[in-house]
Amino acid sequence: MRDGRLLRVIKFVALCRFRIDLAVTRFILKLRGEPHYRLTGSCNGCGACCEAPTIRVHPLLFNLKPCRDVILAWHLHVNGFEYVSEDKETFSFTFRCSHYDRETKQCDSYDSRPGMCRDYPRNLIYGVNPQFFPDCSLKATAKNAASFIQALDSTDLTPEQREKLHKELHLDV
Ligand code: SF4
Ligand code: SF4
Repeated sequence: MRDGRLLRVIKFVALCRFRIDLAVTRFILKLRGEPHYRLTGSCNGCGACCEAPTIRVHPLLFNLKPCRDVILAWHLHVNGFEYVSEDKETFSFTFRCSHYDRETKQCDSYDSRPGMCRDYPRNLIYGVNPQFFPDCSLKATAKNAASFIQALDSTDLTPEQREKLHKELHLDV
């Protein structure tokens, strides 16, 4: 259901906090030379990232019932994310988004969507091995791809081995 005025205000405040947090975190990561990938391509609107939004939380918050209750209640009542499942290995919750229309692949509250929806899939390039949905038209390319490719070209690898390494090391430019 489309967000009303009150929810929009609450989500705007949450978005501001999210952006400040993200700016500080990424500034620190930049000082450390991260990310190691560039995000390339543009969104084709396939909707795959809205099918089952997944949020990873701190292990402590995941395991403490009062904290997880607050997290799940926030996502339900503010973001419209209905709890579906959880993964104890990765400390993540998976939801069904009540704003997502599976027929049209559209978000009914796109202009008030949460920060995580706005940031996706940029967050992936801060990981070790970015994995995109099969239908996603964006991809991660290693920043040092050119020198990697040059090094691979000087080896006796078969075309198949080279192709495999290109894929696994995100060397496609
Ligand atoms: S709020 Fe909108 S953008 Fe975010 S998961 Fe739901 S449908 Fe997708
Ligand atoms: S999965 Fe990728 S291409 Fe599809 S909607 Fe999300 S960001 Fe866009």
